[in-house]
Amino acid sequence: MNCEKLFDEFDRSHLWHPYTSTSNPLPTYKVERAQGCTLTLADGTELIDGMSSWWCAVHGYNHPVLNRAVEEQLHRMSHVMFGGLTHEPAIELGKELLKIVPPSMEYIFYADSGSVAVEVALKMAVQYQFAAGHPEKNNFVTIRSGYHGDTWNAMSVCDPVTGMHSLFGSALPVRYFVPSPQCRFDAEWDEKDIEPLREVITQHHGELAGLILEPIVQGAGGMRFYHPQYLREAARLCREHGMLLIFDEIATGFGRTGKLFAWEHAQVEPDIMCIGKALTGGYMTFSAVLASAKVADCISSKEPRAFMHGPTFMGNPLACAVALASVRLLLSSGWQEKVRRIEAQLKEELAPAASLPQVADVRVLGAIGVIETKKPVDMGWMQRRFVEEGIWVRPFGRLAYIMPPFIIRPEELTKLTSGLCKIVGEMPE
Ligand code: PMP
Repeated sequence: MNCEKLFDEFDRSHLWHPYTSTSNPLPTYKVERAQGCTLTLADGTELIDGMSSWWCAVHGYNHPVLNRAVEEQLHRMSHVMFGGLTHEPAIELGKELLKIVPPSMEYIFYADSGSVAVEVALKMAVQYQFAAGHPEKNNFVTIRSGYHGDTWNAMSVCDPVTGMHSLFGSALPVRYFVPSPQCRFDAEWDEKDIEPLREVITQHHGELAGLILEPIVQGAGGMRFYHPQYLREAARLCREHGMLLIFDEIATGFGRTGKLFAWEHAQVEPDIMCIGKALTGGYMTFSAVLASAKVADCISSKEPRAFMHGPTFMGNPLACAVALASVRLLLSSGWQEKVRRIEAQLKEELAPAASLPQVADVRVLGAIGVIETKKPVDMGWMQRRFVEEGIWVRPFGRLAYIMPPFIIRPEELTKLTSGLCKIVGEMPE
């Protein structure tokens, strides 16, 4: 490793990276370029990417089709405001999205990032209840171990422990939390699993606008995969108590769990759904909030007869153009077969980790492979060891996990899984 090239002094002294300190920051590795599934560092080191840049880069990096979409749009217009104006990329993307999201979704609100999509979804639910004559229904219930983003209201529905509620304390709106579902995705359903949610909803529905959760896979809050029946029961409870069901499919969307969207595992349709991350194939920040006609029509039926949100970069044409290209590329790429192959390989190659003394659990769903360790990982040490092994994996807490680009070749995936198992096995017991 050529440290001088890899670790930049200005970066270390002045740039704030996510979840790290300024006085003693964890190392940040300088990337020169990225191609396919390979990240090339400034000293020439090549790493196989196990993270898809946090769930986004499903087609890998520097893809000619996506590059072309950005370049072509750039020469037409990179941006125009969405208030009072519209454009082809937004319209065509909308048509494409409505073909693949739950059939009851009829309206699309473009937003800037995943967190903002969650803010928009929560606002939509509150405005819906207001318009429906229930302004007192303005709070939310969610399940523990969730993650919905780092902005204020998104943070308020993140897991209270990993979401740092202790730190932000009374500044956050107080939500209702129930234990995360205990029945695993492929285990038998136990109807006791839904009881805590039933209790809270039965008791507090008078003040609840809705339930927000990540369907099937809880991502950054714990990388947990839960039973589809939970969603069916949750949907029934929401319906019975005049609450909206909000699915956060920002991480699970676009094929990652083996279905195009995770709701399909349960065949339960939400009232509002957030998508983001892989929407642009990882090219730029962008998200969308989808809503049913019931939600949109109700909001529009009462003064101010409009949904009150409108960010500057709403419907950004560059983002829409690359998202359109990415969705079309995904749908024509045989993604299902690719994800099935990755899932089978992950299951086979991560299985040996289950017998390591450091490991509490190994689980795989779609193109997501998780090793849960018994003790928290030393992130700085582990990241360096992964880099030395030629792989890019970013662990946190007691989780070392991968969700590679769908285009990953079997031998590249083997390098990832063997490196992952090897380094976890090097942890102190
Ligand atoms: N919801 C979920 C399920 C997420 O995984 C994330 C991002 N990790 C977000 C919301 C927030 O998205 P963003 O980081 O784009 O704001």
